[in-house]
Amino acid sequence: MTVPKIELNDGNFIPQLGFGVFQVAQEETERIVTDALEVGYRHFDAAMIYGNEAQVGKALKASGIPRDELFVTTKLWNSDQGTDSARDAMDLSLEKLGLDYVDLYLIHWPRPDLDRYLESWLVLEEIKAAGKARSIGVSNFHRPHLEKILAGSNTVPAVNQIELHPAFAQRDLRAYGAELGMRIEAWGPLGQGKYDLFSEAALKDAAAAHGVTPAQVVIRWHLQSGIILFPKSNSRARMAENFDVFGFELTADEMASINAIDRDQRVGANPDEATF
Ligand code: NAD
Repeated sequence: MTVPKIELNDGNFIPQLGFGVFQVAQEETERIVTDALEVGYRHFDAAMIYGNEAQVGKALKASGIPRDELFVTTKLWNSDQGTDSARDAMDLSLEKLGLDYVDLYLIHWPRPDLDRYLESWLVLEEIKAAGKARSIGVSNFHRPHLEKILAGSNTVPAVNQIELHPAFAQRDLRAYGAELGMRIEAWGPLGQGKYDLFSEAALKDAAAAHGVTPAQVVIRWHLQSGIILFPKSNSRARMAENFDVFGFELTADEMASINAIDRDQRVGANPDEATF
C-alpha cells in the first residue's frame, strides 16, 4: 500500500496518512509504534508533552527502517515558548527521539496570553536553517496568530495542525491555509471518539456502499479533502483498518453529504482560550 505524499511549501514531502501517539502510555509506546511500522505507517506525529518521545525513537531505531523512509513530527510545548527555552526544547526532543533531525517541528499551541509565539517562531526558523527540522509549522493557530507571524518573519508555516473532523470542519481556516500555500493537518480526525460520529447516516451509507467501516469513510473524506491526518489507535487491528483506505473512493455526492455534517462541534480546547 503506498501512502500518497503531499508537497509542502518548502519543497519537502509528507506522507498524507500517519500515526499519532497522543495518550499512548510510555510503557506501551514501543509495542504500539512497532505494530504501526509493521502495518506500514511511516509518518509519526509526536510531541514533547506526550511524554513518549524516547519510546517512539527506540521503536523507530529498532525497526531498522532507513531514516529517509520515515517522517517524524514533534512539537514545542507551551511552557517552552521563548528564545532560549525553545532552542533547548528542540535539542532535548532530538536527544529523546535519538534523531539528528525531525521532519517537522511545530509550535503546539499559540497561547496568545503569553504572547511568545512570534519569538518562538523565529527560533523555529533558526532550527530549520540549522537542519534540526526539515520543515516547520504551527498547530492550533487561528488567523490572527498566523497574521502576526507572517508580518514578523520570513517563513510561511508549512502546516497548521488543527482540530478537524466532520462535525468541526474548519472551512475558514482551511481556506486561509490554501490562500497562504500552507497545508492543513487534522488532529482528532475521528473526533477523538467524543461524539457518535460513526452513527451519522452519511458515513453509514457510504460505508455500506463501499463495504468498509465508517472510520475508513472518515479517513477517506480527509484524504480526498487534501488533509494530512494521523489517527491514533492502540489496537493493531484498527491501525490496519485505518491504513486500509486506498482501495475505494468516495463519490462527489458522498463527499457532499459528509461535508454537510459540519456543525461547529469542537471536542478539544479553543486555542484563543487555552491556558494549559
Ligand atoms: P482521533 O480522532 O485519532 O481518535 C482516536 C480515538 O479513536 C481513539 O479512542 C481510538 O480508540 C478511536 N479509533 C481509532 N481508530 C478507530 C476505528 N477504526 N474505529 C473506531 N474507533 C477508532 O484522536 P487523537 O488521537 O486525539 O488525534 C490523532 C493525533 O492527532 C494524536 O494522536 C496526536 O498525534 C494529534 N493531536 C494533536 C493535537 C494538537 O493539539 N496538535 C491534539 C490532539 C491530538
